[in-house]
Amino acid sequence: MEEGARSCLLQSRSSLEQDIRASYLMDHMISDGVLTGDEEDRIRSKPTRREQAAALLELLLRKDNQAYISFYNALIRESYGDLASLLHNSLPLVSPEAVLSEGGVPQRPVVFVSRPALVNRVREKLYHLQKEPGWVTVFGMAGSGKSVLAAESVRDHALITECFPGGVHWLSIGQLDRADLLVRIQSLCFRLEQQSQEKDPSSSLHRSPGSLEEAKERLRFLMLHRYPRSLLILDDIWDSSVLKAFDIQCRVLLTTRDRSLADCVSGSKSEVAVESGLEEDQALEILALYVNGKPQRLPEQARSIVRECKGSPLVVSLVGALLREFPDRWAYYLHTLQQKKFKRIRKSSSYDYDALDQAMAASIQVLSEEHRELYIDLTVLEKDVKVPAKVLSVLWDLEPEEVEDVFQDFVNKSLLFRDCHHRPYLYYLHDLQLDFLAEMNRSGLEVGLIHSTQWRLQGPPTSGDEECLYWFRFLTYHMAKANLTQELYSLMFSLDWVRTKAQIMGPAHLINDYVEYGAILDKEVRGHFQEFLSLNGHQLEQRPFPDVVQLALSQPDSSEVYRQALLQAQERATRG
Ligand code: ADP
Repeated sequence: MEEGARSCLLQSRSSLEQDIRASYLMDHMISDGVLTGDEEDRIRSKPTRREQAAALLELLLRKDNQAYISFYNALIRESYGDLASLLHNSLPLVSPEAVLSEGGVPQRPVVFVSRPALVNRVREKLYHLQKEPGWVTVFGMAGSGKSVLAAESVRDHALITECFPGGVHWLSIGQLDRADLLVRIQSLCFRLEQQSQEKDPSSSLHRSPGSLEEAKERLRFLMLHRYPRSLLILDDIWDSSVLKAFDIQCRVLLTTRDRSLADCVSGSKSEVAVESGLEEDQALEILALYVNGKPQRLPEQARSIVRECKGSPLVVSLVGALLREFPDRWAYYLHTLQQKKFKRIRKSSSYDYDALDQAMAASIQVLSEEHRELYIDLTVLEKDVKVPAKVLSVLWDLEPEEVEDVFQDFVNKSLLFRDCHHRPYLYYLHDLQLDFLAEMNRSGLEVGLIHSTQWRLQGPPTSGDEECLYWFRFLTYHMAKANLTQELYSLMFSLDWVRTKAQIMGPAHLINDYVEYGAILDKEVRGHFQEFLSLNGHQLEQRPFPDVVQLALSQPDSSEVYRQALLQAQERATRG
């Protein structure tokens, strides 16, 4: 066992001895293969709980890193979260973790479940790259766990030593243009050259390649001569032109949402599909790990929650983190997930995760008001860029340590992720979380915009005012985008609005609005207004402008248009 891990165990020894029940933990350690039946018997033969605990620790101290990790996981599973946290910082990097860490491969998420069938499928494909270069594509929806899977698949000693003795190099790509791509490849080349110089000081560092072509050649040279038989992992590729920059006869594992990307490059290819959701059992296990319980003992709502999350590991993690903090809210969060209130604003997005939106909203809601505002500021982060806390300390005018504290709160809620390979730590959001924040900011902006203009629409419009025209044209659009359904209802189902808008812009835009937002509006009432407009459109184009109340009174008396006209006529009569 590593020195750091052993020292940590020794320091925490008395707390551990005092609290743990060895018999519970040993079951897990046996199934991990780090403890034998004989050893268990010997420990069980001790007369008291405390002596059993002491014997287990004594034995553990003589074992390897793997045993330490297994013991740590057993603590988590048996609800000794506090004790586990004493050991967390000294969790050793299992070989070949050192190789992976050097290559920038992300660690496992703190709460992690294995997906053995999938991992094995990827490993099997990677074994095909043992003798020749080629491509393995891992494809699936956003948030389905592709990156975690890619990282997990190379956490295998035999695979690395047999197939990729040159190491594993991770590169996060995401959506980027040529200039960004050049920067990414430049920094990869720099990293590779630096590492190879540490190993062989006689090799020289080169200047940064200045163009994409030059960068590609540099990378080809490095992969061929300095890192033969290494694996390049390209995480989250969107565009085939990006992939072409890596078409340099090397071994590549890529993750993407687009299955056909590798069609454009040369060499042998294989692929693994990641289903969009976890198996039910795995998703339940994530929830159980968060709430420190056993999957069998989760409340009845757990299965429904998993169903509502569509098994998405990202969403399950968000909900799990909420439940860890509020363990009696199972029914409440199930209900939250079942609401579909974000659906409409997102119809144009590339995915349809109502559940993600609900879970994000719920997680943001339980932040303190101050932290909530700070979290929303994280929209300033670029996609696929990891930042140290210091970057935000400038924006927020806080000390980096204070920013770390704020971030810790976000990380605990799965609202932010931390890369612990680097010191200082680097932080990043999942793409879908950034999309959510961007959408939320935009809606917020829109709500603000709309409220600031409401007064203008109350008085009679002044013709020729550009801004006023803009609002008559686009107010409905912004309301729909901002999800202000009630406001949209009252606006579009108001005879006053119809009159004013028709007077300024003619009836065509009005008719178009009813069609455009048809799905949001009440079908019957919408029918009343559409019928009125289609019968009277030509009149509404006339000047002088006709009396809309008179026109509306000729609608059938079951129509909402008629009802409003009648009210207005009666009002006129009483006013005289
Ligand atoms: P993708 O690359 O498909 O967009 P990620 O691999 O980034 O998705 O996963 C998104 C999030 O889902 C992770 O940050 C993590 O919180 C959670 N997650 C994914 N896979 C697992 C897993 N096997 N166990 C636990 N959580 C997971």
